Amino acid sequence: PPDVEALGRGTWTLLHSLAATYPPSASVAEQNQMGTFMRIFARVYPCWYCAKDFQGWMDRDENKLERYLGGRREFGDWMCRAHNEVNKKLGKDEFDCSKWEERWLSGWKD
Ligand code: FAD
Repeated sequence: PPDVEALGRGTWTLLHSLAATYPPSASVAEQNQMGTFMRIFARVYPCWYCAKDFQGWMDRDENKLERYLGGRREFGDWMCRAHNEVNKKLGKDEFDCSKWEERWLSGWKD
């Protein structure tokens, strides 16, 4: 099985980078593409129990992705909340989502 920690770090880098480069205001086509990508991602992520919990989180009413694909702000905040859900589950500190763009768009040293 893959190294769940290394896989996770690399994957969060990809996911937050996708949000950071998502258009400030996304077209319907861009929203559909990202929605499709995330739904498939949640099915094929090669840590099966991680993927299962992530799908469960995405299925909750308050997390329905369609509502958060309008632009970078909403999508980035959604991604930050998704990551915080895993942080909570693993007993890690929650990340301050107001710092999300600073971390993933402008960039800081980690
Ligand atoms: P990571 O959590 O990988 O974070 C990397 C960096 O992102 C941090 O150093 C910080 O700068 C930044 N960051 C942290 N939180 C946020 C946030 N909320 N928003 C924006 N930036 C943030 N591991 C398991 O053991 N069990 C699981 O069930 C599990 N589920 C996962 C589900 C998904 C979809 C993904 C992508 C990963 C999952 N992981 C899971 C892996 C886990 O989330 C971590 O990636 C792994 O434990 C390594 O943690 P880390 O402390 O190095 O930092």
